[in-house]
Amino acid sequence: KARKRFGQNFLQDQGIIRQIIRSIAPSPSDHMVEIGPGLGALTEEILDAAGALDAIELDRDLPPILRAKFFRYEDKFRIFEADAMKFDFNSLREDDRPLRVIGNLPYNISTQLIFHLLSHSGDILDMHFMLQKEVVDRLAAQPGEKHYGRLGIMAQYYCQVEPLFIVPPEAFDPVPKVDSAIVRLIPHTTLPYIAKDIKTLEQVVRVAFTQRRKTLRNNLKELISPEKLEQLGIDPSLRPERLALQDFITIADTLTSSETA
Ligand code: SAM
Repeated sequence: KARKRFGQNFLQDQGIIRQIIRSIAPSPSDHMVEIGPGLGALTEEILDAAGALDAIELDRDLPPILRAKFFRYEDKFRIFEADAMKFDFNSLREDDRPLRVIGNLPYNISTQLIFHLLSHSGDILDMHFMLQKEVVDRLAAQPGEKHYGRLGIMAQYYCQVEPLFIVPPEAFDPVPKVDSAIVRLIPHTTLPYIAKDIKTLEQVVRVAFTQRRKTLRNNLKELISPEKLEQLGIDPSLRPERLALQDFITIADTLTSSETA
């Protein structure tokens, strides 16, 4: 029986499962990592096609079921009974192959988990996730759009974000209340814009969106004066949702250099 506290909604629609596997297109040279395999709806086809698969599953009742079900693949299948939010993904690297991460993520922790994975983006070739559709909208949002905010800005700092397709609630058991969607995140091999200090960038973005409907002058007043914003060519009367990633980096870099000066 599915456990609510682990965010368990198991995929059961074979058509959707095939569509997801086609988007991922695993190949024998791939080192895959699956977060939350559950009962293995996506796992078998990945195992068939990929060179190796490491699965990370928190619900300790599931690994024995998965081991029994997939015993034929034991030379290329490892299961870690662990919390993906605390997992050191770098520890899975055995060679210079970066990891391909996939997962139908537990929705209650999906944004936190994505932030955790972004901090490992140097170890990752790409990621394919099933998420609440709204989270995919936030990941892909551009300045001025309704869902634009901290998640999208930080994801786009590290990755190219490609929403792929929508998945209706009926594809799952139990049926969730919301639409889901598949997204592909590809970490940039060289970052298009680089902040001097990533922690300062994270802080500026977080503080700038403290109250979405307030101006930059208001939200950022503890960090930077309106005069200074104007000097940087940024209008302090704008709402945070109008600023592009580069503008947030400009603000963060100014703070970083004034700290070290
Ligand atoms: N992949 C399966 C499928 O598509 O049917 C299951 C998806 S279900 C939405 C999420 C899975 O993540 C569950 O198996 C749950 O036990 C597991 N899970 C929940 N929290 C986790 C965590 N912090 N770390 C690793 N796995 C977790």
